Amino acid sequence: MNAPRTACVVGAGIVGCATAHALARDGWRVILVDAAASPGQGATLANGAQLSYSYVEPLATPAALAALPRWLLAPDSPLRWRPRPEWAHLRWLLAFVLACRQARVRRTTAELLALSFHSRDVLHRWLREPGLGEAALAAGHAQPGKLVLYRQAAQREAVERQVEHQRVFGCRQRLVSADECRTLEPALAATGGGDIAFGVWTEDEEVIDAAKLAAALARQTGSVQRRLGCTAEGFVRRSGRIAGLRLAGGEEIAADAFVLAAGPGSAALLQPLGVALPIEPIKGYSITLPVRQPAAAPRASITDSARKLVHARLGDSLRVAGFAELCGSDRAVDARRIEALCQAVRETYPGACDFSQVNPWAGLRPATPSGRPLVGATRWPNLWINTGHGALGLTLAAGSASLLADLMQGRTPAIDATPYRPRAC
Ligand SMILES: Cc1cc2nc3c(=O)[nH]c(=O)nc-3n(C[C@H](O)[C@H](O)[C@H](O)COP(=O)(O)OP(=O)(O)OC[C@H]3O[C@@H](n4cnc5c(N)ncnc54)[C@H](O)[C@@H]3O)c2cc1C
Repeated sequence: MNAPRTACVVGAGIVGCATAHALARDGWRVILVDAAASPGQGATLANGAQLSYSYVEPLATPAALAALPRWLLAPDSPLRWRPRPEWAHLRWLLAFVLACRQARVRRTTAELLALSFHSRDVLHRWLREPGLGEAALAAGHAQPGKLVLYRQAAQREAVERQVEHQRVFGCRQRLVSADECRTLEPALAATGGGDIAFGVWTEDEEVIDAAKLAAALARQTGSVQRRLGCTAEGFVRRSGRIAGLRLAGGEEIAADAFVLAAGPGSAALLQPLGVALPIEPIKGYSITLPVRQPAAAPRASITDSARKLVHARLGDSLRVAGFAELCGSDRAVDARRIEALCQAVRETYPGACDFSQVNPWAGLRPATPSGRPLVGATRWPNLWINTGHGALGLTLAAGSASLLADLMQGRTPAIDATPYRPRAC
């Protein structure tokens, strides 16, 4: 019998942990490396918790492009941009603008839906494994459905078109009236939900705490060796292959194959190899706070499309997340953003939460211009990539991990891998 091959996965966020899990299930011996002391500490840590399989429309759309000037000028805008005189940043922005064309958006949405539905199938399969289902329940896994609230009646036609377009790909969504929104989510009734014009209801959307899922995936299989607290400094090349991963301190980890899944840290690790990964860190914020009055807090996942915020109930807590800041790699928490999140909770669900225990957080989404992740081979025969999941890393992690494992095993993947191929590599 052949000895198992060794794969070194760099990055123990939700994407790296899912990749480690998929490879271990395939019989690989996996070494999972991360600079942090535990899995899921990067963009994964306190994200919006949405397994948002039917809401994958990218950030780059004609509507987003049209709204940019307004968003950039408004003081309370969900978007913030600090221009940097860097070639990679400018090239990313240009590619983002080009990705906003309607035909591209349609194609990208279809490609992301294929990956997200694959992701749902894979995750559901994994959650039937002994131990993982229980861990997922402890991580707040539930299928409460998702209600997207719209405040302007004028948006209805465009939303209706999007729902129709997505139906072809298997999304089960329906437009609902403002009254139906309050029936579907009684917690909205306390305030009348504000000025709701209409909503879109998707009953099969799920939630889970991403960091807890990442930790469960990383410890599920005995063949995953965790090297936490180890910062990767770069890859070592020999004879046209990657021979090792060099850690701070000089240690070199040898493996048969290497997977780069370091989220926003991925580009820096590839740069010395002459590869410019088109990934921009997009900062977002969240608060997690205890629910004081369960009946006053939402059960369903709520997306407030006007404020660009998502609300998820995770057991006894409420998580609210949002905002998009293109301001480099600074992870500082802006108190004004946190106050805006608290204010949204106070206004939408009065009396529901305990504000004496707010847990504020900021994280960097590893975003490609189009919103499509980069999953696949590079020009080095044993270096693979799984990163760039932007606002959808939790949703797409299991699907991309399984796709990559198929490619690494030389199997035909369950979905077409071409759209996610990292062409720049
Ligand atoms: C506010 C917010 C809300 C979000 N909400 C949702 C949501 O509701 N649903 C959803 O699907 N997605 C959501 N996302 C997006 C999702 O969180 C990300 O796409 C996902 O976490 C990316 O996972 P990752 O594993 O690629 O990166 P990360 O989680 O950032 O993990 C990368 C890991 O690599 C490690 N690393 C980096 N460089 C090195 C190095 N040199 N050496 C060693 N280790 C290194 C880091 O320590 C980190 O642990 C949200 C993101 C944000 C910020």
